[in-house]
Amino acid sequence: MADELTQKERDALVRRAFERNGQRFPGPNAPALDPHEFHRLSDDFYLAVGDYFDRLPRRVMSACPYCGEALVRSFDPWGFDGLWWGLDAICTWDEPSPCDHFRVLLGATRLNEDELPTDMLMEVQPGPEPPFVVPRLLGLPNMIAVVGELKMLRGGPAYPIVYYSDTEIEPIQLHQEWRRNMLWFPKDGESQWTYANDPWDFELEPYVQADQLRWVLLDAGEDPPLVRKASDGETCPFIGLPGEREKQCLSGGARSFLPMPDGSVPWPFDD
Ligand SMILES: [Zn+2]
Ligand SMILES: [Zn+2]
Repeated sequence: MADELTQKERDALVRRAFERNGQRFPGPNAPALDPHEFHRLSDDFYLAVGDYFDRLPRRVMSACPYCGEALVRSFDPWGFDGLWWGLDAICTWDEPSPCDHFRVLLGATRLNEDELPTDMLMEVQPGPEPPFVVPRLLGLPNMIAVVGELKMLRGGPAYPIVYYSDTEIEPIQLHQEWRRNMLWFPKDGESQWTYANDPWDFELEPYVQADQLRWVLLDAGEDPPLVRKASDGETCPFIGLPGEREKQCLSGGARSFLPMPDGSVPWPFDD
């Protein structure tokens, strides 16, 4: 793998992608772009984006309660202008392979509104501020969630909440990933998408007591992190964390709140 980005290199790539995108889509009142100039700007945009994703840090986010293997994924710890945080996956990139029990990654993110970047290429939906569970997911066969805390260098912290099971589960029964609003699943030999709209639960104590929500201490220097649980007599540090229990949406330096998932069948699947 290519050298991991430094903060300075990451900031330069994020800036370059933001500027090229503004240049290639200059808005309805600007003179029309020469088509070749559009290609040149787009090529440079995708070069910057590709370099960014290839060289983002890969971080230990969790560990499997069944086999103990660490879950390693790309992560941008430098802030919400990073394309990693964007609602749309604008290109594909390689992630380290998870263990066989990994089912889906969800997450929560605490943030300081005064520190939000104003130049954001894409809307960001980083989840609510405190950790939560999706009770419907925990009702699927042998599902266990594991929460951890990822420090960020600007903003944060972020809380990856990872679901594992030792039983196969149809992709359509799972959930769109952290930061995304589309759940892709195979159907009739094609990829289709839907959107899980299941209510969230922030009262974590009962799930912790039932060992259905476990946790890792990513700062503890364990490799892989030890998956901790209440029945071992440990106290979960993720219960009762402060913050907005809202579906956050970040855009242009401001935060707003979207309607909370309420279990209703969402557009466009209700017609
Ligand atoms: Zn061209
Ligand atoms: Zn596993």
